Amino acid sequence: MRVALVNPAWSFDHSIYFGCREAHLPLELGYSKALLERAGHEVLLLDGALDGLSNAEMAERVAAFAVGMTVLTTAPTYLFWRCAQPELRVPKEFLAALDGRGGRTVAVGPHGSTTPAPTLSKLGVDLVVRGECEEIVARLAEGTALDETPALAFYREGGLVVTGGPHAARFTDLPALSWPVDWLHRHPHHHHRYGTEPAGPGAEVEASRGCPYSCSFCAKIDFRDQYRRRDTAIILEEIDGLIAAGVRYVYFIDEIFLPRRDLLEALVDRPVEFGVQTRIDLWKPEMLDLLGAAGCVSIEAGVESLTEEGRASLDKKCRMSTDDLAGRLIHARRSVPFVQANLIAVAGDDAGMVKAWREKLLAAGVWANDPVPLYPYPASPDYRRLWGEPDDRAWERAHEHYLGQFARLSDIQEDEPLPLTELEAACSCR
Ligand code: SF4
Repeated sequence: MRVALVNPAWSFDHSIYFGCREAHLPLELGYSKALLERAGHEVLLLDGALDGLSNAEMAERVAAFAVGMTVLTTAPTYLFWRCAQPELRVPKEFLAALDGRGGRTVAVGPHGSTTPAPTLSKLGVDLVVRGECEEIVARLAEGTALDETPALAFYREGGLVVTGGPHAARFTDLPALSWPVDWLHRHPHHHHRYGTEPAGPGAEVEASRGCPYSCSFCAKIDFRDQYRRRDTAIILEEIDGLIAAGVRYVYFIDEIFLPRRDLLEALVDRPVEFGVQTRIDLWKPEMLDLLGAAGCVSIEAGVESLTEEGRASLDKKCRMSTDDLAGRLIHARRSVPFVQANLIAVAGDDAGMVKAWREKLLAAGVWANDPVPLYPYPASPDYRRLWGEPDDRAWERAHEHYLGQFARLSDIQEDEPLPLTELEAACSCR
């Protein structure tokens, strides 16, 4: 089968989107491509930012490729599935331009994983894949009957058919990815790197997927939930390919980059630097030293609240005191040039305490952000505590709650956020 895999040309005007707006490698589509090609299918992989194409231009390329199936992601890469933009405006824009010329249309991403029916309706696609998508996309290309393919949602004779819950991929042996060299050269961005000069192209890599914790605000119930480690030899094969293509920085998109001696020791002598997100309470000082020696230049560590009660209310299951967490962050900073403690706005963390703690850490070279408000993503435990299982209005409900609760929004949200219905009614192509 001829299959098009599309990461649309994103824009986030008036969105509450928290994620980074630079171009990143669309890993979910990269894995899909590898599995499809291994099975003998022909693949057209397009990325709006990395190909420098508009949604209309990509739609023309897909139509000209005469595909049997078009797969479109509703969030800009796996890295941002947990903090996706709520609106489906941009995928809609691509599909409007495609205008029925893409064969069977399939949406993958966090929206359809949690709320398949409204995602089908809003986008008008033939199928939605729930959960991690690469293995399901490969099965669809094989022609497996829809009723026998897990984790799908579609309409048949006006009724919603859901073939199963969200899919968790095996993941551990997903093949080493290689990317078009011109894409890598269009990717100077070193994700979450601050304070040191980026030299050479950057890339994103996955060493593990999921997380053994269930923090109340973390939107991963329906994808990337259960913790799995990718085989070290495959990760190194992928990184060596990136280095050979000129890449000098990789960002491990893992939900939680856990201490891993074999991988870190293998990175020590490789000419590549990297960034991670993790929990500092899970790292012993000796492993932090190895992390720095291996080339880590950026750590983003979720501390969230400055009180043990606050962290407990978020189900962090953190066994360290706030002072010990600060000590561990400061230790990391000895060998890693940028260390950030993430804070979120939690009732009980008074402004004076937060200010004093941030100043203490800053004096030791550790950055702690101004606490940001929480968005109750439908895939998070917080959503389910507030409203139960997500229904067809889940995203609208979360959005209304968020806009109503916070007058002051995160630094990275530049313009006045709009209600979801207004955002999705607008089309940025007009
Ligand atoms: S530790 Fe991080 S990735 Fe894991 S559940 Fe908590 S916030 Fe999510």
